[in-house]
Amino acid sequence: MKSHDRIFLSPPYVDKDELEMISRAFASKYIAPCGPQVDEFERRLAKLTERKYAVALSSGSAAIDLLMEEFKVDEDTVVFAPTLTFIATIASAYRRGAKIVLVDSDLSGCIDSAVLERALETERAENKVGRFVILTVDLYGKACDAEAIGALAKRYNAVYISDSAEAVGATYAGVSSAKAGDAAVLSFNGNKIITTSGGGAIVTDSKGIAERARKRSQQSRETKLWYEHKEVGYNYRLSNILAALGLAQLDKLDSILKKRAKIKAYYRAHLKMEEPFEEPGENNWLSVFLADSRAKRDRIIEVLADNDIETRPVWKPMHLQPVFKDKVTIYEGKIAETLFERGVCLPSGSALTEEQLKRICDIINNV
Ligand SMILES: *Cc1c(COP(=O)(O)O)cnc(C)c1O
Repeated sequence: MKSHDRIFLSPPYVDKDELEMISRAFASKYIAPCGPQVDEFERRLAKLTERKYAVALSSGSAAIDLLMEEFKVDEDTVVFAPTLTFIATIASAYRRGAKIVLVDSDLSGCIDSAVLERALETERAENKVGRFVILTVDLYGKACDAEAIGALAKRYNAVYISDSAEAVGATYAGVSSAKAGDAAVLSFNGNKIITTSGGGAIVTDSKGIAERARKRSQQSRETKLWYEHKEVGYNYRLSNILAALGLAQLDKLDSILKKRAKIKAYYRAHLKMEEPFEEPGENNWLSVFLADSRAKRDRIIEVLADNDIETRPVWKPMHLQPVFKDKVTIYEGKIAETLFERGVCLPSGSALTEEQLKRICDIINNV
């Protein structure tokens, strides 16, 4: 018999509250991708992110895809993104044939704005006609400096989209991370800080962006008695049942944020490991620490796995991914590579107990 339950990286944090909300949605008879819970979820997401509009969708990836559609990302578009991210950030732009320009991160975990500026300057000199889109990522819930990036976007006449999929609830200098740019993307996937099991959203202050995204997420159907279409759309709307789950999760967000901050603080106090990121503004989605070397990082992950504890290396940079070999442009990348080689994401679930945290720290400190 095992003496401990398996510890996951960031499992869903749900209880009877979620079940009750789902039951209520059931009772409302809106077992569909529309209904009162979707509407309420959108209102509360807009409020949380200090945006005028929110569009609830079936995933964060769907949100990104709809924004690529909105900004007509195609072969004549150059998309700038940090190399240190999850593939969903750039997948849609890549599929649409855009030129993908990857940029190193700095020690805030965000795209390095000095390197980004060099990339913009170089690409503008080479590419006089192309549309520019800047996609930033709030890595592990760490909000980017929206003012610095916003100034660059303005100077180079670029669309600015914030991939805040990992950063629900994060703020930078008191402002919601998802307030950055022309629009921001949220994700409620199973392991994100709050979950609808699968889901996402676009938040924006532009009525046009919100309305077009909502329409495209429902097959671009015109308001006619019959099914009339002036363009081809998508089926990306969030289910009303899942929105109900999201509402119960939003009720818990404050306590989840406090809990995750405590977890990070515990690791900080007890681990003999360096921390990679130094800027403020985070939701502590995952606690990330640096081993002295790649070998040591691998050893830590292995020993924890032997103890039934799930961890993960930091995202493998996109410029190192086999699928993008010779297909993307990279500006620098050494910091992203180092973070990948030495970084480890530790269990950060909102239900972790102090006893479990102690066990994790003891195991790591013994490696
Ligand atoms: C999770 C995530 C996404 C995609 O969200 P899904 O809801 O899983 O489609 C996009 N970007 C980043 C950085 C993410 O971590």
